Amino acid sequence: MRYIVGIDLGGTNIVAGTVSEDGSEIHGVLSEPTGAEGGPDAVVDRIVGLARKSMAAARGKTIAGVGIGSPGPLDTKTGIVLLTPNLGWVNMPLRDRVSAGLDMPATLDNDANCAIFGEWWRGAARGAQHVIGLTIGTGIGGGIILNGDVYRGASDIAGEIGHMTIDSTGRRCKCGNYGCLEAYASGPAIAARAIEGIEVGADSALPRYVDNDLSKITAQVVYEAAHDGDEFALEVVRDTAKFLGAGVASLINIFNPEVVVICGGVTLAGDKLFVPLRGEVKRRAFKPAVDACRILPGELPGTAGVYGAAAVFAKMNWGRV
Ligand SMILES: [Zn+2]
Repeated sequence: MRYIVGIDLGGTNIVAGTVSEDGSEIHGVLSEPTGAEGGPDAVVDRIVGLARKSMAAARGKTIAGVGIGSPGPLDTKTGIVLLTPNLGWVNMPLRDRVSAGLDMPATLDNDANCAIFGEWWRGAARGAQHVIGLTIGTGIGGGIILNGDVYRGASDIAGEIGHMTIDSTGRRCKCGNYGCLEAYASGPAIAARAIEGIEVGADSALPRYVDNDLSKITAQVVYEAAHDGDEFALEVVRDTAKFLGAGVASLINIFNPEVVVICGGVTLAGDKLFVPLRGEVKRRAFKPAVDACRILPGELPGTAGVYGAAAVFAKMNWGRV
């Protein structure tokens, strides 16, 4: 059996793991801060070092190469990261730099594509042919899997689900557009809606969770208060479900997937989010499409991107996973 090192490069942390080609084993799952402020050379060194440590933990295994998932936009054919505001990179030849550092072949794909491909390979969407996935955290990433492979579109941009317009005159998004899903349902957007509600007088225990410093309210705090039964926090979560439901209903009508998998911190809201989300999708989308689709939380928090980056390597080099 061959093994592949999967790298999940994020704005905050790098995660590495050594995965068997059939996905049944993972060894040496390790994480380190990205340290993007030190510049791209330092990040490449850290990726190479972490990959070496992961391979050492998988002692004696035959390593075929390394799959890298990175924030984009990027070009999977040239292996170049075109632009990442989080890391401050422009036209960074990440694939070839890591490949040279480890002296082994490498592949590069978008981090959200990798996370969703990982959930398809070994997680919540196992066995499905058509899968749509959302990764909800600081932003909203997405991945589209059609006929068991990542759909990347004409120039590797496909799957930017967070930047689907759900309100044509709505909230400003960091991408420059107005009314993107991300501007309503990302972690910071959920916190911002909660803070706005309290500032205009909503009756809520939320301020007590943060010593009355509203700037400390995060999406996590909102879920915590919702679980404790705070009616306003529950309303914020229900509104989140409505916004996500509008987006997911459109995706279900367009792609008719078997599974929509939702990953990231937002899954901490549990049934408080998923029950109204499924209801909203049912109200909006075509019935045969809704009936064919399961909306599920991700099953591989922390490692979906590592599995997926390894799976992308296998698919690109061997034509199968
Ligand atoms: Zn946007």
